[in-house]
Order: sequence, then C-alpha cells, then structure tokens
Amino acid sequence: MARVHWFRKDLRLNDNEALAEAIHAAVSDGDSEITALYVFDEDAFQALAGIRQHSLRAGVAALAESLTGLGGLLNVQVAHGLTGVAESVVRVAQAAGAKEVHAMRLFDPSGIAEQNAVGVALQAAGVFLRLTGSNYAVEPGTVRKASDGLPYRVYTPFYKAWFEHLPAGAAAAPKPMPQIGQNWRSKRVAELTPAQAWPECTQPSPFEVKAGEAFALRTFARFQQRALTDYADDRNRADHSGTSHLSHALAHGEVHPRTLLAQLGDSQGEEVFRKELAWREFYADVLWHNPHSLTDYYAPIYAQMRYDSGEMADARLSAWQTGTTGYPMVDAGMRQLLADGWVHNRVRMIVASFLVKDLHLEWQQGAAWFERHLSDFDPASNAHGWQWTAGSGTDASPYYRVFNPVMQGLKFDPNGDYVRKYVPELRHLAGVAAHEPWNYSLGYREGYPQRIVDHAAERLESLARLEELKALR
Ligand SMILES: Cc1cc2nc3c(=O)[nH]c(=O)nc-3n(C[C@H](O)[C@H](O)[C@H](O)COP(=O)(O)OP(=O)(O)OC[C@H]3O[C@@H](n4cnc5c(N)ncnc54)[C@H](O)[C@@H]3O)c2cc1C
Repeated sequence: MARVHWFRKDLRLNDNEALAEAIHAAVSDGDSEITALYVFDEDAFQALAGIRQHSLRAGVAALAESLTGLGGLLNVQVAHGLTGVAESVVRVAQAAGAKEVHAMRLFDPSGIAEQNAVGVALQAAGVFLRLTGSNYAVEPGTVRKASDGLPYRVYTPFYKAWFEHLPAGAAAAPKPMPQIGQNWRSKRVAELTPAQAWPECTQPSPFEVKAGEAFALRTFARFQQRALTDYADDRNRADHSGTSHLSHALAHGEVHPRTLLAQLGDSQGEEVFRKELAWREFYADVLWHNPHSLTDYYAPIYAQMRYDSGEMADARLSAWQTGTTGYPMVDAGMRQLLADGWVHNRVRMIVASFLVKDLHLEWQQGAAWFERHLSDFDPASNAHGWQWTAGSGTDASPYYRVFNPVMQGLKFDPNGDYVRKYVPELRHLAGVAAHEPWNYSLGYREGYPQRIVDHAAERLESLARLEELKALR
C-alpha cells in the first residue's frame, strides 16, 4: 500500500516516531516506498519577517537535502490557507495512490485546526490520517495531579510529576531512522507538477540562516562542550553565549527533546537544562488545557486592567518595536530581535516587562511582534512567556514585580558589552556607562534617543493600576 509521510514541525529523519511508523508499515506492506511531503502555507509564510521566512526555508531545504542524500525526494508544495493545505495533502495522497497519510500530532490551537482540516479532507477522499508522536518528551495532557486528576497550574510540582512520566529504559532512547537494509525510499510523485514548489522569501535576511537536523545536533554537541557545565550560572548572562541556542531546532522539530534528554546526566548544569526543557513542555500542557490563553488572559481579571491606547500608545509601541525607547537594555533586546531573530531569555523578560508595565500596553501586542520576528516562535512558550511576565499567566511573576530595565542591564550585562553590540549609538561609552548614557556629558553624542518614559514614575503608575484592579475583585 502506498503511504505518504506529511512533514510538519518534524523537520528531521531521526527520532521521528511518525516517520518510523510510516517506514515500518511500508516495509511490512511489501512496498518500501514512502511519498515524503512538506506543504508551505504561502499566506502564513508571507506574513513572517525575513529571518523567519529564511529559517523555515533553510530547515525544509536541509530536510530535502537529507532525503536526496538517501536517493529520495521531498515533495514540496505551496498552498494557501488551511483549506489549501488540506487540498494539497489530499492531492498528493491521491497522486501517490495512498490510503494512509502519516504525520506527527500538534497540540497548539492552529496545529490542531490544521490536522483536523487535513484529517476531514482526507477522510472524504477515503484516506486515513494517522497521527503519531509529538515534539514533546511527555505529551501535553499526560501529566495530571494524582489527587484530583486536574492539570498543574504551577511549574515546580508539574516538573516533579513530568520527571516521573519521562520514559525510562529503551523507551527513553532516541529512535534512529529505520535503515531496514537501505530499502526504504522517499519517492517522487510523477503526477505532481511541479514536485517541488517553494515560496519566495519576499524579505531579506540580514545573515545566512543555518538550520536543519545535522546543524541542530552539531549545535547541541558544541553546547555540551562549550557551556553545559556552567549553564546553571551563565544562562542568565545576556553578554555570554551561555545557552544552547536550540530553541529554533526544537520549535521546528529539527531535533526531538528526547534526543537531548537521553544525553543528560545529573550534574547541576544538566539538571537545570532539563528543567528548561520542561518549561517548554509545561507551557505546551497549559496551552493544551487552556487554548484561549494563546491570545486571551489566562487569569481573566487582567483583561480589566487599564491599558493605554491611542496615538501616544501607538508611538510608544513603535519605539519599543524599533529599539528606540531610550533604555539601553530594552533597545539592545529589541534590536537583537530584528538583527538575529532570537533574543536571550533574560532580555525577553526585560523587554516584555517594559512593554506591559512601563508602557502600559497589552501583552498580546508584544507577543504578536515576537511571533512575526522570532525564528524560534513557539505558540505556547511565547504566549505563556509573555503572560508570565505580564503577571496574568500560570505560576506568574506577581504583577507588582516590575523589572527595572537599568538594574537588570547592570546585573546581566555587567560590562555593557551586550548593549554596545546591538546599539551602535552607545559604542563610544565604555563599560557600564553604556547602560546609563544620561549620566555622561557625551552620552547622547551619537544620536541615542532620550528615554520615552520615566521608569520610576511608570512603575508607580503600574502599581496604581493594579490597586484599581484589586478593587474590582
Ligand atoms: C516573553 C517571552 C517570549 C518567549 N517566546 C518564546 C518562543 O516563541 N519560543 C521559544 O522557544 N521560547 C520562547 N521563550 C522562552 C525562552 O526565552 C527561549 O526558549 C530561550 O531564550 C531560547 O534560547 P536557548 O535555546 O538558548 O535556551 P536554553 O536556555 O538553552 O534552553 C533550552 C531549551 O529549553 C526551552 N526553554 C528555555 N527557557 C524556556 C522558557 N522560559 N519557556 C519555555 N521554554 C524554555 C527552549 O526550548 C530552549 O531551547 C520566551 C520567553 C519569554 C520571556
């Protein structure tokens, strides 16, 4: 029986349960050929910023290259919107003569909507969509409180229970791609014209994006040598390359977290790294149980907070987006986003806190900007990273905790190197001076903007708005 493997956020060959199942089934059918498919949603693709367009293309291109290296082919199709994607998968399944399409399962609202639409369209054509595996070590919805069966709302107890759910023994081992005597192949579907259609990147990328499974595995190996030992201490330093930079690979499924977890021991660095991987799984679990929290307040009361809107608010949002707020650490972070498509976790918290508590804007505005620009965009981690900082999420930092952008800069970029790297107008200021140009007569010589708000005053304003909210309860 002919089979299709529809690649989604699983841009890898190894440790891919859905692909492995498709291959095993194809081999036991006596037909060792698989039609490998990836469908770009052109509408969604064109809404992305340049780096995201290039990084997605690079990930798919690396997958296509791996398949070509095995003598096969990735059939790449371009479709428009959800219906277009569903029609595309049906067309390829029919052209291949397949009765089953294999794919991984997604757990976020748009991934669920996509697999539902494709499943229904395939069913109408007499084809079965078989969803297997996910991009999580423990699938969302699995970890529940023993006492009442309800999901966890707080990370630390979730982590303990999640750890207990981690597969042990052989089940914990990464699943290599079945070789099966080299006899499985990904074939070209002759009836498809063209077999390869790629969307054009309409926006430039400031650098050549590297992506793909082999790159992800190299990145992890380098991280193990370079930074894992000191990860517990160094991961908060914005000026150090102390983290793994694997978020892009995890978001696109270029590596499965199981592959990473299987290589971790019990040192302090490894323990903390495992806990960070678990944050990603915690947020996926929370979003799965609370799909509204992708765009709405997890704690609904925060929707009633007084937020700013109008011309002044728009101007402030624009200053935040372009990294021209006059607060060096915030501006460095926002410029890093535009330059690299990635921002250090500590800095993500600083810029998020600034948007919500200094500019009094709603977290969704910041989350949408991040979604457009972050090459590691992940619906659950983004929405809940924002809600954590805004104080409206699960296990949230209390609303009254307002990050001081200057103190945070001095603590996590103690020599000013991070700020100077991303803000050229501050490069003439040595050491920590880059964090406080207002204290130096030549501070503004190179045209760095003045502060758009006074942090001390906005902190008080933010706390006053919290009091108003409390009065509503
Ligand atoms: C406002 C805000 C928005 C965010 N948006 C995203 C997003 O869209 N996509 C995304 O992958 N992460 C997001 N994060 C989480 C975190 O900032 C990134 O995962 C991390 O910076 C990626 O760098 P790294 O791979 O070097 O991380 P490492 O420190 O090496 O961590 C390893 C992996 O653990 C996971 N992880 C680490 N920290 C977190 C965290 N706080 N929450 C969830 N997962 C975590 C990531 O998958 C990461 O790749 C966001 C955080 C905040 C505060």
